[in-house]
Amino acid sequence: MKEPFMVLDNMKELVAGHIFSIQHFCLHDGPGIRSMVFFKGCPLRCTWCQNPESWAPAPELGFKSRLCVNCRTCVSVCPANAMKTPGQIRSDLCQKCFACAEACPSGALIRFGEFLSTQAVLEELQPEYPFYHKSGGGVTFSGGEPTLSLEFSVQLASTLKQDKIHVAMETCGLFHMEEKQGPGSEPRKDVRELLSLIDLVLFDIKLFQESAHQQFCGTTNRIIKNNLAILARNFRQKGSPLIWPRMPLIPGITDTPENLEGWGGMLAELELNKVTLVPFHNLGEAKREWLQFKPGPKLETPTPESMEKARLVLARMGITCYDPGEEDWPQPSKSSPA
Ligand code: SF4
Ligand code: SF4
Repeated sequence: MKEPFMVLDNMKELVAGHIFSIQHFCLHDGPGIRSMVFFKGCPLRCTWCQNPESWAPAPELGFKSRLCVNCRTCVSVCPANAMKTPGQIRSDLCQKCFACAEACPSGALIRFGEFLSTQAVLEELQPEYPFYHKSGGGVTFSGGEPTLSLEFSVQLASTLKQDKIHVAMETCGLFHMEEKQGPGSEPRKDVRELLSLIDLVLFDIKLFQESAHQQFCGTTNRIIKNNLAILARNFRQKGSPLIWPRMPLIPGITDTPENLEGWGGMLAELELNKVTLVPFHNLGEAKREWLQFKPGPKLETPTPESMEKARLVLARMGITCYDPGEEDWPQPSKSSPA
């Protein structure tokens, strides 16, 4: 049996990426049993985001006030005098050393994000390889936006592919297909290189109308739509990577007939005649509080009736809707251990 990480020895340099979580035994983000690698850093600020800890690219501190026992250990260990009161951090003084989070005995202070080398992530994934091989699963990059950590994503995906692991990537779609380089600058990794290593792209679509996208996601969607069209054309021409659209269903925001019809028309035109509808859950609100962000607006979760209504609108346009984890993925061949 081949040593899974031998390939790393031949690589010129190891790179690292900011990761806020690695989860195993996931069943909703690609075929088979998967591990999810969550990247930090995202160019969007979606009103309904369930992972606001992914927004900033660098590691950050969260404070769960309900867990604090007021022992003041954090105050006493802080080398920068940045914490005068538990959980109240002066950002101008904080050195992001995370000594407070390490010392906190109750888990009230938490660190979101670690700067991990490719090797460290692979060592976490390696014990899961047998599950991927048996189930036709693999690894899914999510976030945050994996294309923002391009060097790292390329190296991780490249090593996983050499180990014969299926690699999926969930993306917000906002990336530049070609890196602009100044004269004399070092050649940089290109999103196309990453895409050539990815088997499945879970492409998030949200608001069709540009002004609505700007309002609810913080940016326009011109590049996103353009990238979706390019990836769909590439798939038609080359058969890879498989593009699978996903839409969060948020009552009154993404589930309106205008929005569904806008996306339905575009998907039909691109011959992407399927979409996973992801019902909104308000899991991000507590995290916003821990990170001391402004609270988001109160949003409703969709009812079974509103989910069905959305399915019918899209079905009329020839688009088949799936629940997360119920997709009929074209099964990758069950690989034997490398
Ligand atoms: S991260 Fe370090 S500098 Fe910042 S508040 Fe905690 S202990 Fe102090
Ligand atoms: S160390 Fe943790 S539990 Fe103790 S005061 Fe600080 S935040 Fe609260």
